[in-house]
Amino acid sequence: MEILHVSAECYPASKAGGLADVVGALPKYQEQLGHKTKVITPMHKTKFLFDNKFDVVHKGEFGMGHMYFNYTIIKEQTDKLGFAFYMVDIHGLLDREKIYGYGDDTERFMAFQIAVVDWLSKWSYQPDIVHVHDHHTGLVPFMMQYCYAYQHLAHIKTVLTIHNGQYQGWMSWDKAAYLPSWNTWQWGKLDWNGDLNPLASGIRCAWRVTTVSHSYLEEIKHNSKGLEALFEYEKGKCSGILNGIDNAVWDPLTDSYLDHNFNVEKVKEGKLENKKKLCEKFNLDIDKPLFIFIGRLVHEKAADLLPQVISDSIYHMKGQMNFLVLGSGDYHVERHLEYMKGEFMGYYNSQIAYNEKLSHDMYAGADFLIMPSRVEPCGLNQMYAMRYGTVPVVRRTGGLRDTVIDFEEPGGYGICFNDASVWDVTYSIHRGVALYNQPKRLHEVRTRMMKIDNSWENSASKYIDLYKQIVH
Ligand code: ADP
Repeated sequence: MEILHVSAECYPASKAGGLADVVGALPKYQEQLGHKTKVITPMHKTKFLFDNKFDVVHKGEFGMGHMYFNYTIIKEQTDKLGFAFYMVDIHGLLDREKIYGYGDDTERFMAFQIAVVDWLSKWSYQPDIVHVHDHHTGLVPFMMQYCYAYQHLAHIKTVLTIHNGQYQGWMSWDKAAYLPSWNTWQWGKLDWNGDLNPLASGIRCAWRVTTVSHSYLEEIKHNSKGLEALFEYEKGKCSGILNGIDNAVWDPLTDSYLDHNFNVEKVKEGKLENKKKLCEKFNLDIDKPLFIFIGRLVHEKAADLLPQVISDSIYHMKGQMNFLVLGSGDYHVERHLEYMKGEFMGYYNSQIAYNEKLSHDMYAGADFLIMPSRVEPCGLNQMYAMRYGTVPVVRRTGGLRDTVIDFEEPGGYGICFNDASVWDVTYSIHRGVALYNQPKRLHEVRTRMMKIDNSWENSASKYIDLYKQIVH
């Protein structure tokens, strides 16, 4: 089968979160299953762009409202990612350092999507499946069916994967003028509650819709920022396929970011070496259990609870544990976490940044990873932590519910709680400290979770089965 993935991010070329990891891994595993896979993203100005060589494979142009853009499609020369990797360059619009966060993101991603569809329409290659990811690519299925210039693509089957339904790309209706001339009888396929909503449009127009875990699919029927009724209405074409992790990138034995590699047989010594390095760097105590948080410091991840969780735990449990936080996001949470460094020196530290290497060092060196998320469509951090022998401390929601079993249940290996509240998280930290003080049990839990297979092989073939339902 021929598959084209369209996404805003793809690791290692660009990454802001889990979407990049998925789009960097899933196509590779689909190739290994014998399918031809291509990925296209905007041309972000990242290190990957400058370190690699690209061929120009297509040039084109299009109008968008009163603007006119030339675009260039480039392809990485060697297929080193394990699949053919393409990027769209629109000078001045897409060639920027950050992936998101600009005032003209609406225009940027609209132009990206038009360029992709335009390229596809002019190319002799026709994929069997166009697989789009999240709202940044949610208008592609609509354009392929209802924009007059592209209607010859309408027979190509489309699949939308929702990695995060909290962001929907809402825009006001005047932005509809950006779309290439379209069949206005179909306006209802763009509209949701009076806004032009790319995610809702993707859900309506794609042939199949997936979410990245089963539990998340159930949750969004009740809580999805206004789309609840749509998910209920379209439930016949929706399914949940749990993300995997890329074992080639996330393996403590071969991870090139680590100074001390280890496997399940050497987990105790290996983690200790990595912890030592972390504790020296961040002025923490190697003998105490180390709890970490890695992720976006946003409401969804319940990062706002961290300052109080950390201070309450240190006070109430008399400093029996250490904390290290890596993340960036909400300004007030960032400032609070920075400020606390002075107050809890020797017990707590943080780096307010995005730092890929440090994240690997932390998964390897920590004892516990905290994820109190209010919303977690799948979550990859807990799976990385498990592979590196770090016990996940998670709220029972979305993908966390589907991937972590409490260590006090049969076959369990994590610490689970129900509410995104300071009390529930601190109580779970308390349970973590107690587990840490039983080295034999901790070792059993670590080795059990390190042996769990969360790799992509399984999930990649589930996507292929899904494609087969619509490609005949
Ligand atoms: P998200 O909702 O952010 O996509 P996921 O759990 O699906 O959450 O994926 C998060 C990914 O981003 C993981 O690979 C995690 O290690 C990485 N990550 C998040 N924040 C940071 C950071 N500040 N520095 C390094 N890596 C980070």
